[in-house]
Amino acid sequence: MDRYSRQTLFKPIGVSGQKSIREKHVLVIGAGALGTGNAEALVRAGAGKLTVIDRDYVEWSNLQRQQLYCEKDAQEKLPKAVAAKQRLALINSEVEIAAYVSDVTNESLEALVKKEPFDLMIDATDNFDIRLIMNDVSQKYLLPWIYGACVGSYGISLTILPGKTPCLHCLLKTAPLGGGATCDTVGIIAPAVGMVVSHQVAEALKILSGNEQECNQKLVSFDVWKNQYMAVRVEKLKDHDCPSCGQSRTYPHLSFDNQTKTAVLCGRDTVQIRPSVRLEEGRRLDALKESLTSQGIEVEENPYLLSFKVEEYRLVAFQDGRVLVHGTKEIGRAKTLYHRYFG
Ligand SMILES: [Zn+2]
Repeated sequence: MDRYSRQTLFKPIGVSGQKSIREKHVLVIGAGALGTGNAEALVRAGAGKLTVIDRDYVEWSNLQRQQLYCEKDAQEKLPKAVAAKQRLALINSEVEIAAYVSDVTNESLEALVKKEPFDLMIDATDNFDIRLIMNDVSQKYLLPWIYGACVGSYGISLTILPGKTPCLHCLLKTAPLGGGATCDTVGIIAPAVGMVVSHQVAEALKILSGNEQECNQKLVSFDVWKNQYMAVRVEKLKDHDCPSCGQSRTYPHLSFDNQTKTAVLCGRDTVQIRPSVRLEEGRRLDALKESLTSQGIEVEENPYLLSFKVEEYRLVAFQDGRVLVHGTKEIGRAKTLYHRYFG
């Protein structure tokens, strides 16, 4: 076990903590900046299995901070989950890696958590609705999760242990969770990402190595440019009437009518459209390619997606039926284009 010698020499982990880390399965939701940072660190630390879910593909603007990706991934428009899996396997072949090119919905996340015995979820999404879904899943299936977000030079993180700490929903009214600004409007610098990743990975190692009692009970936030660091105790914010973790809980974010079918994506002029019915995979992209080519439209493709230009827009169709419309934030405009090519 030379490979992990420096980590086992670290007393709070030791040989038994390392053995415990080795037996754990971590779910990383999102493979952007936070997701790649967390995934790389946990794979290097020797987690037993890591599952990554991401719906997007690698673009040039990701390379400044999304540490698992290289230029070739952006050239090939490789789905992030696929590119991350390839790179992680090169870093540590002892760790089992599963990757899903997929959207996270309440339905899909609940199905996955029922199927696989995860020990921990890492929040590496840029989407508050998904965090609330993770939060409900965490409470319902007693699965700890670590919230993390960053934008500009600012970052924030919190560890949520079901049955022990307040949940994200408890804090919605009172805590400064940094909603509003997105990397779309104010950009983001890599050290803000690194700070959040460091906090999340440290907390993850505590949980995975059997040192849950050492977890940080404060909501931490910081601004690496303005030199501000804050830690707020949150245990008093536990809401006994909370719909996610209170006594008569209803898990509101797991009910199906809360689903959105279109979403404007963070970081770009892009609208995602998700069909309500899951289409037949594989053959669908082939048929689409044939139809586009017959209309004289030039199509770019890899085994996971197909993309083409229309006017000033670029449409990207994934195997699972989702379509990204780049070049607009207008949902109406995106839907018109979608219906023109996808019925
Ligand atoms: Zn709660």
